Amino acid sequence: MRVSIRGAAQVMLPPEDGMPYLRRPNELRLEPGSVTVDDGVIVALEDDPGADLIIDAAGGAVIPGFVDCHTHLPFAGWRAEEYEQKVTGVPYEEIARGGGGIASSARALAAASDDELLAQAVDVRTEMLEAGTTTVEAKTGYGLSREGELRLVRLGRQVGDRVTGLFAHAIPEGYDAAGWMDVVDELAAEADVDALDIYVESVAFRNEDLERLGEIARREGVPLRAHVEQFNANRSVPVALAAGARSVDHLACLAPEDVAPLAAAECAAVLLPGAEVLGAERLAPGRALADAGAICVLATDCNPGTSPVQSLPLVIGLAVRRYGWTAREALAACTLNAAWVLGFDDRGSIEVGKRADLAVLDGPVEHIAYRLGRNPIKEVIRA
Ligand SMILES: [Zn+2]
Repeated sequence: MRVSIRGAAQVMLPPEDGMPYLRRPNELRLEPGSVTVDDGVIVALEDDPGADLIIDAAGGAVIPGFVDCHTHLPFAGWRAEEYEQKVTGVPYEEIARGGGGIASSARALAAASDDELLAQAVDVRTEMLEAGTTTVEAKTGYGLSREGELRLVRLGRQVGDRVTGLFAHAIPEGYDAAGWMDVVDELAAEADVDALDIYVESVAFRNEDLERLGEIARREGVPLRAHVEQFNANRSVPVALAAGARSVDHLACLAPEDVAPLAAAECAAVLLPGAEVLGAERLAPGRALADAGAICVLATDCNPGTSPVQSLPLVIGLAVRRYGWTAREALAACTLNAAWVLGFDDRGSIEVGKRADLAVLDGPVEHIAYRLGRNPIKEVIRA
């Protein structure tokens, strides 16, 4: 089917075709125009009056479909009661002692059937699509056992466009960090995943485990990703950079001296303002990273604990306000730069020949952040 999206006030275009990511997103162009799609591919940056379907974009913007490169789908149920405890001041240790936290999600997951898990994930993905997200990463991590993690890899394939093995998420009962890393090593060799990930934090894994996962990722030929510097400054970023990580995610407690090396590296800084706001975390140095030319990325971190957030328009609004970013900086961070994190070079920007993943907004791009919490999406095309 041939589709023409006609007469937009803004079409978001990269400064030139073929760029893998943008370190200076303010070079993005926002120009009046039209886009024609045929057979799921962008074929022209002009109107086709003979198209099978015409979408009137007058007054609005056409942008690439959002890429959410950091989610914890699939998971079972939500943890709203914990959120209330958290905001009213119950310490996390107490919540965890009462059976909450990651352990609670792991129990719910073990009790849920595959059909129940997939049904919840499909609901979430549908709502993400309605908010403009056309590509989603899925992570394992709530399995907390060998079998549980292998099950999540299998289900993740039905949920996400990429599956990341977050086998090193929490340390299962009966193991210490090093002992579980032996299992992670076996899982990485056995499971078919697109990347490997680890949660480095005082309550989880250590920098030496990150180093080891880097070696495992190299052996398996998949990118290394890492949850780092979320609640504490552990100086994990230099370790991740030395291990050749594709991305470092969270960074609320990034050490100031690590900004410049991260910005100089071919490693994305994945910022998660939904988790920062809902967890009353510290603020990642988003402005400093952008000024230093880092490959900045935004994602929802969608998970039932720290960030039950699905909307990238909302995340853009938070990032613009809290990091002091322009609309262009926020948009590049959840389109082209996020696609690079997931290893997709066929999407994330509006170029002839790329996959037709597009969102039509009902106003200019600046309204996404400004009218916070509102869904600005009028139409979504996914291939
Ligand atoms: Zn996460």
